[in-house]
Amino acid sequence: MKNEPLTIRRWPRAILHVDADSFFASVEQTVNPELKGKPIVTGAERGIVTAASIEARALGISRGMSLSEVTARCPQCLLISSNFENYGLYSKAIFNILRRYTPDVEEYSIDEAFADLTGTRRMHHKSYIDIAHDIQNTIHTELDIPVSVGVSLSKSLAKLCSKFRKPRGMTCVPGYLIHELLARTPVGSIWGVGHNTEALLKKHSIKTALDFVRRPLYFAEELLGKVGVDLWQELRGDVRYGVDASAKQTYGSISRTRTFTPPSSSRDYVFAQLIRNLEYAMAKARRFGLATSRLTVYAKQQNFRSTAIELQLSQPSSSPLDVTALLREHFHHIFKEGHFYRATGVTLHQLTPQSGTQFSLFEDPMRSLKAESAAQAMDSITAQFGPGSVFLAERLHLGCHATSNKASPLPTLEKIAV
Ligand SMILES: [Mg+2]
Repeated sequence: MKNEPLTIRRWPRAILHVDADSFFASVEQTVNPELKGKPIVTGAERGIVTAASIEARALGISRGMSLSEVTARCPQCLLISSNFENYGLYSKAIFNILRRYTPDVEEYSIDEAFADLTGTRRMHHKSYIDIAHDIQNTIHTELDIPVSVGVSLSKSLAKLCSKFRKPRGMTCVPGYLIHELLARTPVGSIWGVGHNTEALLKKHSIKTALDFVRRPLYFAEELLGKVGVDLWQELRGDVRYGVDASAKQTYGSISRTRTFTPPSSSRDYVFAQLIRNLEYAMAKARRFGLATSRLTVYAKQQNFRSTAIELQLSQPSSSPLDVTALLREHFHHIFKEGHFYRATGVTLHQLTPQSGTQFSLFEDPMRSLKAESAAQAMDSITAQFGPGSVFLAERLHLGCHATSNKASPLPTLEKIAV
């Protein structure tokens, strides 16, 4: 009985789960190759570890540890401040790679996604296992981010699979082998089973996921209600939780701010500085295949006063040409003659995948990120004044009206975590 398969069906459905390994730390190592192969942790600004690199984990460092504990255990460990802008962009890039294989992609968290691959074998001329390998390799080649992948018949099973081998794991379990996977899965590791449920199941001598699904359905229902029924069926390969491909409303943002010395009262100079930031931010958006439909721009005076305006675009764009004419028209809202300015900034909000995305843009994001020299951006400042299909939606005055010479914080439009 124990070794009997739960089903003889191979792939009635094929659900893939991808989970990036040590995601924040992996992004840092990709953006700064000198961190590769080294024990690093992110979260330095918060005082606790938000991600530990594979090398740091090997030395016993884990998420949630305090930084003092990290330095005590592992003095050579490097502490890095989080850069949520980069994490958000790499996250989007992973999701966009998945969408090349199927439109049914659920952005489950910043570093996890589900994809329904059912019926895509003919299109890709490949088995589900080969498609999954392809996805993992593509993410590695184009983004240099290690991910673990699981494929099975339901979301609950796929999530168990991606956890089964880590890092850089690949676990595919067709229907007739589900019982093998479940026999190796303690009940506490099932997605959605918390401490209380685990204790309850153990009271009934249920130690593994297989023990659970070998019981009749009415047992699961009596013990855990609807959740029990859903779990029981999901673990047997009958889909209860669909892949929710509706677009997430929480988009990342891209910011670019530069301070210049000496402060300047020249309108043309300050405007050029602003355009330089705009070009940098838009270039970064294009490299990640994203377009923006809302921008905030601001200028900061020598006395640390800042004024910002918000621009809403009639359609998403990643071209500075769509914005520069409008920006010039409304520049007087943030620049006043006779005042000295020391910084400008641009933030792109509402980032969405660019239609007709050029995937070649992904080819080497690491090099691209490093190649953002100011000189490059300056080259195109003169090529700006194309006709823009944009209009000003609203004007914001987020100035920090400092009454002393003490530095006031910048407006809170600098960074938005995803
Ligand atoms: Mg992860």
